[in-house]
Amino acid sequence: MVYEIALIPGDGIGREVIPEGVRMLEALSREFCFDLSFTEFPYSCDYFLRHGEMMPEDGLERLRLFQAILLGAVGAPGVADHVSLWGLLLPIRRQFEQYVNLRPVRLLSGITSPLVGRTAADINFLVVRENTEGEYSDIGGRLFAGTERELVVQESVFTRKGVDRVIRFACEMASSRPARHLTSATKSNGIRFTMPYWDERFRAITADYPELRCDQFHIDILTAHFVQHPDWFDVVVGSNLFGDILSDLGPAIAGGIGVAPSTNLNVERQFPSMFEPVHGSAPDIAGQGVANPIATFWSVQMMLDFLGEQKAGAALMAAVERVTGGGYLTRDLGGRETTRSFTDRVIGALGE
Ligand code: ATP
Ligand code: MG
Repeated sequence: MVYEIALIPGDGIGREVIPEGVRMLEALSREFCFDLSFTEFPYSCDYFLRHGEMMPEDGLERLRLFQAILLGAVGAPGVADHVSLWGLLLPIRRQFEQYVNLRPVRLLSGITSPLVGRTAADINFLVVRENTEGEYSDIGGRLFAGTERELVVQESVFTRKGVDRVIRFACEMASSRPARHLTSATKSNGIRFTMPYWDERFRAITADYPELRCDQFHIDILTAHFVQHPDWFDVVVGSNLFGDILSDLGPAIAGGIGVAPSTNLNVERQFPSMFEPVHGSAPDIAGQGVANPIATFWSVQMMLDFLGEQKAGAALMAAVERVTGGGYLTRDLGGRETTRSFTDRVIGALGE
């Protein structure tokens, strides 16, 4: 069986970390005897500057044929964020119903948390973010523009289908983990309609999982708990906005953006899922060969898990931790390894 992978390196350091991800996958495919075929797509801000669009009209049609998409990062100085977001990332997430954004937060061996005294035993949880609806809608508008009466409205959209499916996925994840603990992010004391609905559906869905310990926190105190009590959490589920906030805060306590992976999952596998490092194109360090490839390797591990190559994925992360645990780190983590030298060390550690 050949796994068909679409590659979108994108912009900036995306073009530096994705080739290393491919090199890693090739090494793993030799070691674990599976076959991969890669097709690269140039969709990016660079493409936008040349063609006036982030991808061609049939871009999604072409991507649809793959099992998985490995994306680097899109973004460039001089191209507004909403161009790359609404021109590429959101169409992929929404058209392919990648309704779960899954972000593991775990302190890797050899990496220090900014939370003093916290170790790997304290920081090991999963953020499950709703990825297709909620607060990030394009419904709204501006009235009386430019006048004293100016008024702006932004609607949130929560559907039964959308809320239930992400909460159910979070329940399944929590059921499969030893702690069996699920936390919901809410704000039903301030948001009158959508958040009470979210809570109601959380109670209804979790009723099917009596083995789970379930709780909920308002998003404001929840962010404080992430910092003060990261050891309280196992699986945390949130709406698009709250999940977005938590899934940046999570990596911040586990070594930063250079190590944080993410998955945009179409759980039913009707469409491709997309795997990507959390970080952006980092124009400030692009071209220097110093980007940390761990976020990409971890995303590759999640992709391998999804494809059914769990052993290869586990071997990859074990090798990463042998290298980081040995004190070899890239510049963002205080070390001196380059993107390439770090990758070489991980490939070397695969067979150990
Ligand atoms: P975007 O808008 O595309 O999300 P951003 O403004 O959030 O981008 P990033 O591009 O993620 O920012 O970069 C934020 C900071 O983190 C930058 O200083 C960048 O150099 C650093 N950074 C991001 N990713 C990495 C990485 N893989 N290795 C090292 N440093 C990184
Ligand atoms: Mg960003």
